[in-house]
Amino acid sequence: MQKFQRLRLILGDQLNANHSWYKHCDPQTLYVIAELRQETDYVCHHIQKLCAFFAAMNAFANSLQQAGHSVLYLTLDDTAQYPDLPSLINALLSRYQCKVFEYQQPDELRLLAQLSSFKLVNSVVRQQVSTEHFLLDDSDLTRYFKAETRHRLESFYRNMRKRFNILMDNGQPTGGTWNYDQNNRQTFKANDIKAIPQPLLFANPVNDIIERIDRHQVASIGQIQGQLLWPINQQQSNQLLAYFCSHCLPRFGTFQDAMTSKSPHQWSLYHSRLSFALNCKMLHPMQVIEAAISAHRSNPEAISLAQIEGFVRQILGWREFIRGIYWANGDSYKLSNTLFATRDLPAWFWTGKTHMQCMRHAINQSLEFAYAHHIQRLMITGNFALLTGIHPDLVEAWYLGIYIDAIEWVEQPNTRGMALFADNGLLASKPYAASGNYINKMSDYCTTCKYDVKTKTEANSCPFNAFYWYFLQQHEQRFNHNPRMAFAYKNWQRLSTEQRRDIIARADYLLDHIEQL
Ligand code: FAD
Ligand code: SF4
Repeated sequence: MQKFQRLRLILGDQLNANHSWYKHCDPQTLYVIAELRQETDYVCHHIQKLCAFFAAMNAFANSLQQAGHSVLYLTLDDTAQYPDLPSLINALLSRYQCKVFEYQQPDELRLLAQLSSFKLVNSVVRQQVSTEHFLLDDSDLTRYFKAETRHRLESFYRNMRKRFNILMDNGQPTGGTWNYDQNNRQTFKANDIKAIPQPLLFANPVNDIIERIDRHQVASIGQIQGQLLWPINQQQSNQLLAYFCSHCLPRFGTFQDAMTSKSPHQWSLYHSRLSFALNCKMLHPMQVIEAAISAHRSNPEAISLAQIEGFVRQILGWREFIRGIYWANGDSYKLSNTLFATRDLPAWFWTGKTHMQCMRHAINQSLEFAYAHHIQRLMITGNFALLTGIHPDLVEAWYLGIYIDAIEWVEQPNTRGMALFADNGLLASKPYAASGNYINKMSDYCTTCKYDVKTKTEANSCPFNAFYWYFLQQHEQRFNHNPRMAFAYKNWQRLSTEQRRDIIARADYLLDHIEQL
């Protein structure tokens, strides 16, 4: 058996080819990439997500090998006998007589706790290094984010613009304003829909992976049509980034919040679909930001400042901000349930079989492609879960399983904080609660829905309407002094006692029949 001085572990979301580890080939270093049941089973994942991770891990192992590194790729078959990652690592350390075990800092608390504390065999030395991926390192996070403290995106984002000198001119925001949200909230008219570009889809063969997943009886959700359409290596990730810059960025900001069920083939609209490539670190956030800004600078007529600002805000702002909230609040965040939500997740979240057209569309698209854009996640499925008081643990298990990009550090604050207000406003200044009116304004869903978005208390009234007022009434004590909710509460108080009673009765009825909605 060959001996190695050092074993370096690469996790499935650490596929950063530009990491300093790979600058030189060292014959004394063995890289290990492993398919593990502890990772396939901690939540029930979408089949495309399982395939995408394994295919990307496999491709990364091959590229390292071709570059001259020693790599051990272990499939589910190879790791089946080990109950968890520590037992596998210890077995390999013994087998290859290693003296040092190195790993990149995991993005998730559960993996960090596991890798930093398990007992190593044979007095092996443990070393943790950075993933060299995020824009902010640990000391920045500690400086910017405090536990149990309210943080707001806008001031964080402005600091990030200044600090990294992105879209800045002489210390001022390019164009004179920080935020183009007002220009960025348009909806699709009939002609707009025809112009939506086709998504760039790949055709990665994954039959052997599907066969392995089936053989090991790994539970999964969703569908896959033979080939995997998601990028699995740096080259495909770069292609997707270039495609986004040329085809989607020109209207990214404009239609960022819009939703439609009338473009089944252009299901990702003007969104980038880069989250999987980013979260697996096949793309670096600054590379994405620079590519987008360079596309804007070379063609400012086609890609206006409003588009580019809207996009930069997502990566430079939201993505790093969410990560700060996750690490500042640690394990306590995952227990947060400020609104005491206790309801079960309706079974149709897993099948899409509901009469509510907005929910049906968002869920079916997620089951088909492991993807929904931000407003579908926040204002359709998230809004429903918030208004009806579904337990955050159940909501989290759904989001963490179903989306191609779902990894706890980014899923958790988005779900608990942004969608469910379970963190009591550490992340958002008010709950993102909305009635059918908002959904009708931002989409064409209501035109083909069984329910009537214009009414509240009829037998066919939109459930979101009654649920919205029910939510406000339920949490009146908590929110009626929130200035951002004042307008909503004024409207609620303007209703007569009978009107309010009828709305609450309708909401109670709908909640009793939630499985049939
Ligand atoms: P685009 O719309 O093209 O945006 C570009 C990039 O900006 C994204 O790829 C992403 O990296 C980043 N970004 C945008 N918004 C956010 C945000 N709120 N938080 C962090 N990054 C952001 N994103 C994940 O990556 N993983 C998740 O598990 C996840 N779970 C979510 C759960 C809920 C309830 C909500 C409301 C949002 C969640 N998001 C998550 C954030 C966002 O919805 C996705 O990043 C985005 O939809 C991915 O699609 P895209 O690449 O086409 O994004
Ligand atoms: Fe959704 Fe209500 Fe519109 Fe139907 S009417 S699509 S349930 S918002």
